[in-house]
Amino acid sequence: MCPPDDNFEPATDELYNSLLESNKQFVQNALDADPQYFEKLAGGQSPPLLWIGCADSCVPANQITNMPPGEIFVHRNIANLVVHSDMNMLSVLDYAVNVLKVKHVVVTGHYGCGGVMAAITNQQYGLIDNWLRHIKDVYRLHERKLETIKDINERCDKLVEYNVIENVYNLCKTSIVQNAWKNGQRLGVHGWVYSIKTGIITDMNVSTYDNENMDIVFKFK
Ligand code: ZN
Repeated sequence: MCPPDDNFEPATDELYNSLLESNKQFVQNALDADPQYFEKLAGGQSPPLLWIGCADSCVPANQITNMPPGEIFVHRNIANLVVHSDMNMLSVLDYAVNVLKVKHVVVTGHYGCGGVMAAITNQQYGLIDNWLRHIKDVYRLHERKLETIKDINERCDKLVEYNVIENVYNLCKTSIVQNAWKNGQRLGVHGWVYSIKTGIITDMNVSTYDNENMDIVFKFK
C-alpha cells in the first residue's frame, strides 16, 4: 500500500463518519448500562453456538436472536453454504468445535435470498457463478418438486429450505463434526430459515446429534 500523498484528504463521506460517531455512542450506552461491560468481554469468549449464515445485511445473527456479544461465533457467506473444500469455513468450524467447544452449529438461511434466486436463473453474474453452482446442485436434487411450484418467489423460498437442509448434511459429513461425535462431545447441528418480512425463524426440524442415519459412504470410522 502506498503512503498518502500531500494532497491526501481524510474521508469526509457522511455515512463513513457517522459510523465512527455511532461507535462512540455505542461505547457510551454500553458503559452507562454496565461500567465493566468491555472488561468482561475482553476476558475471553465462550460462545455456545456457531452460526453459519448468509452475508445479507438484513440477517445479523445477534440481533435476530436477541443475543449479546460473546454468545454467538459467526461465519457468513453468500447463501450460507457449507462447502467441504472451503478452508475459511473449515477453519471456523474446527476452531468452534475443537477449541471453543460449542454445543450447537446452526445453518441459517433466509427467505428471498438473492444468492438462491440468482442460482435459479440462467443469468451469468461473473465469478460468483462458481459459488452459486453449489445451490444449482441442490436444485438438481429436488428438481421435480421445485418445478411443480410455478411462482418463482415461492420456488426460491422452497429452494432456500432445501439449501439449508443440504448444508446441515454437509456439516454432518465433515470429519470435524463426526470426530466430535465419536469422542463423545455433545454437538447438535441444526437448520433454520429466517423471514426478513416477519422476523420469525422457522426450524427445519433436521437437528442431528450423531451420524446414525448418514449415508454409509460418508460415515467415518
Ligand atoms: Zn441471502
